[in-house]
Amino acid sequence: MDCAQVRTKLTNQQADTPEAGVLEHLEECSGCSRFAERLRLAEDLLHNHHSGIEPDAGFAGRVVAALPTSSSDVLGWAAIRLLPATLALALVLTVWALAVTPSPTSLVEQAVGDDLWSWILDSPGGES
Ligand SMILES: [Zn+2]
Repeated sequence: MDCAQVRTKLTNQQADTPEAGVLEHLEECSGCSRFAERLRLAEDLLHNHHSGIEPDAGFAGRVVAALPTSSSDVLGWAAIRLLPATLALALVLTVWALAVTPSPTSLVEQAVGDDLWSWILDSPGGES
């Protein structure tokens, strides 16, 4: 068994103790022996890396306390986010209303221009 085969078997092994051929090679080859030791250290490091990190007992309580307490807080943020669009829509509607709505003087001018007397005489409620 050569060094590449031994290192492949060491990397892919599932059990803690290598098979007999690998053990014999490790006793004779210092390079593969160092490789096996570094591999074991890396496995231990990866295994223990996150084991010391656990949230304390008050973690969930602090997270819940940091959340908005009422729906009005959430709605307030939503309203602030929609404020620019609301203002733009109000501006567009105001300009449109001022442009479309006729003034009283323009209505009178239009009525006179359309023969005001025929409109008055032909109306159903007027006396003939
Ligand atoms: Zn070797």
